[in-house]
Amino acid sequence: MTGHFTTEAIVLNSIDYGESDRIVTFYTLGFGKVKGIAKGAKNSRKRFVNNLEPFSYIKLLIFQKENRELFIIEQADIMGRFDKLMFDIERLAFGSYCLELLNEMTPEGQRNLKVFELLVKFLIMLNEGANIKTVVTVFEMKLLSLLGYYPHLDACVSCKNVPISRNRIFFSSAKSGIVCYSCKGSEISLMPVSPGAIEFLTLAAKTDIEKADRISMPDWASEECENIMGDFLRYQLGKELKSKKFLNKLQAMTERQEAIGKTHSP
Ligand SMILES: [Zn+2]
Repeated sequence: MTGHFTTEAIVLNSIDYGESDRIVTFYTLGFGKVKGIAKGAKNSRKRFVNNLEPFSYIKLLIFQKENRELFIIEQADIMGRFDKLMFDIERLAFGSYCLELLNEMTPEGQRNLKVFELLVKFLIMLNEGANIKTVVTVFEMKLLSLLGYYPHLDACVSCKNVPISRNRIFFSSAKSGIVCYSCKGSEISLMPVSPGAIEFLTLAAKTDIEKADRISMPDWASEECENIMGDFLRYQLGKELKSKKFLNKLQAMTERQEAIGKTHSP
């Protein structure tokens, strides 16, 4: 692939490179995930304004020389910004987590229209005030499904039976699905899960992201879903995402503040 290309893109990540350049990772409509270099972007802010910051929705003009992995970013015109995220630290933190997750899970140069569409719709929903936990769960489940990592949630991964006593099921990140009580044996690393949480995950995968707000997930279910998905994604990626670590700290801080608030209220 050589020559000039234009495509719509969302900026996933942007880092300084050398004296004056920036290396930017995009998820594009035309080519999936790509990396490009913006020459002189650090010094000449005029040329790219802030259009190469994460969350920017842009029209990109890129150039590729023969046998070069990095694209050269020639132009980036803004198509949309998700500005409200910048004024809400919780939304921003969850949004950053989803950008990092997508970046880690997708290979470079593999076009996937549905993934692009999911990302844009997710950012619109998050920016417009959708319930954070539900829209993030829908994003995670749909992304896993589109990329072929969707866990088996309808029957036990070992014996293939649909557990009869659905209140004694476990989740195995290593086996990528649920395990029934008889197959669990002495394995202690498996997480007990409630049938309700599994139903929410299944529902999240089937729901259009624009309709995420129609799912009403009680706190206990969203907590369980978050634990299962957290463990599963950590296993799949082989590490904890940086944005996830930040998110955990932020949540712990919020809980502490709420607890302090409660003890001080009459
Ligand atoms: Zn089984």
